[in-house]
Amino acid sequence: MNAESSEELQSVAVELAAASSTEILRWALARYSGSIVAACSFGGPSGMVLLDQLLELDRSVPVFYLDTGLLHEETYAHIQAVSARYEIAPIAVQAPLTLERQASLYGERLWERDPDRCCELRKVEAQRTFLRPYRAWISGIRRDQTASRAQTPVVEWDRRFDLVKINPLAHWDERTIWSYIVERNVPYNPLHDDGFSSLGCLPCTAPSITGDARSGRWPGHSKTECGLHQA
Ligand code: SF4
Repeated sequence: MNAESSEELQSVAVELAAASSTEILRWALARYSGSIVAACSFGGPSGMVLLDQLLELDRSVPVFYLDTGLLHEETYAHIQAVSARYEIAPIAVQAPLTLERQASLYGERLWERDPDRCCELRKVEAQRTFLRPYRAWISGIRRDQTASRAQTPVVEWDRRFDLVKINPLAHWDERTIWSYIVERNVPYNPLHDDGFSSLGCLPCTAPSITGDARSGRWPGHSKTECGLHQA
């Protein structure tokens, strides 16, 4: 167990529980300066708020997204537009297997038969390798998004990836996220205007029926997570 997984980290989470997202980011940027990275999927509104707040504080932190090779054209165009607007160069973290190699090893359209395996190959493994040099990563997940995220602390030890995870927006909700976006004219994925609550890979994303934050992901499967945010 890493020293950072100790009681100290848990007590920091308690101390920062009522802090604003900006205060949490400030703490994390100071503590893990030079060894912290931020995730932004460009497929949900929370990531855009996180990006906007982070760049106000520190433009030197690397920003990454998982490029599975299967994102919507609109998402790729959105990444380009956001990069130009904020003058940043997000890192496209790619899966160790090309889509062709995956198909030859596991068969065509693995996502239809075994989406957990597909996410492990195209997302989790890629992120694990990418995060290895860092001490902390920042995520935009929120407690209101799914039942499995309901207990998300603002700071935690990420056992899956073996580093500290910062969740500055854990206590935000869908309404406050969109209020921030509107008030600050923050860019967002245009597919949200077509009924998509959350954008993942094209084959595994449908327009939302319920309007819930994660609704429309993996339709027809009980799956609700990629595996990136599970303990
Ligand atoms: S979201 Fe779908 S296509 Fe993308 S990695 Fe997961 S299972 Fe594969």
